[in-house]
Amino acid sequence: MTETLKIALVTGSSRGLGRAMALALAGAGFGVAVHYGRNQAEAEKVADEVRILGVPVQVFGADLSDPANAGTLVEDVIKGLGRLDVLVNNAGITRDNLAVRMRDDDWNAVLDTNLTSAFTACRAAIKHMMRARSGRIINIASVVGLMGNPGQANYVASKAGLIGLTKALAKEYGGRGITVNAVAPGFIESDMTGQLSGDVQKAYLGSIPLARFGRAEDVAALVAFLASDAAGYITGQVIGVDGGLYPH
Ligand code: NAP
Repeated sequence: MTETLKIALVTGSSRGLGRAMALALAGAGFGVAVHYGRNQAEAEKVADEVRILGVPVQVFGADLSDPANAGTLVEDVIKGLGRLDVLVNNAGITRDNLAVRMRDDDWNAVLDTNLTSAFTACRAAIKHMMRARSGRIINIASVVGLMGNPGQANYVASKAGLIGLTKALAKEYGGRGITVNAVAPGFIESDMTGQLSGDVQKAYLGSIPLARFGRAEDVAALVAFLASDAAGYITGQVIGVDGGLYPH
């Protein structure tokens, strides 16, 4: 009997960690929905790399600064690829500043993009997954959502919120065969962390027991595992990929 091909959507897979997740899931045999916000050309390149791995792939654009678009994105993926088995809420932004100087629109943009869009994507995906009585949701949080970080009140609140969302949904939908977990990356080499000053990078390095920054592939390997059948009894967890920066 041939197995049904499962489909995974990775938001923000035009580059960075999301790109590595799309490739890891494709390598594990999932068909992949590659999503971008602004960088369609980059997303098309990722799709070409996925296609080489021999699985179906489609590219979807949606601006997740408007949470309504996240629900539409999930519906578009189900229409385009026929089903949705794995949702990875990975798209995220930072708008750093000290809290006393943080403008309302910087707070709102980060919360809308990182947290509310993840919620509306989950809501749309869960309706579909409930009918299938199975599904995997993986929310990409951050170690700072657990330990806090100065200058990132909006980002930290969004990531802590994602962790709470993960735990609530795991309890609500476990009985329907849907697992919901959060991944908390530490300091991973990427465009986002490349913007940090040399001093900040040095300070982080000094506090990482494994004495190196992570790679996108380190995070992607965990995402592929959480999406796999082997992870079927893991739900409501927050799993760090941080070189020991923040032991739970
Ligand atoms: P990145 O390189 O900046 O990439 C961000 C991704 O999110 C891009 O694909 C981008 O798409 C998409 N995105 C951003 N704003 C969007 C919007 N308004 N609408 C739609 N898509 C949007 O980030 P990264 O470092 O790979 O991080 C990925 C995730 O991991 C984020 O949630 C981040 O918070 C989390 N994380 C990262 C680290 C790290 O060290 N890098 C650590 C902890 C957690 P376009 O480029 O197409 O617009």
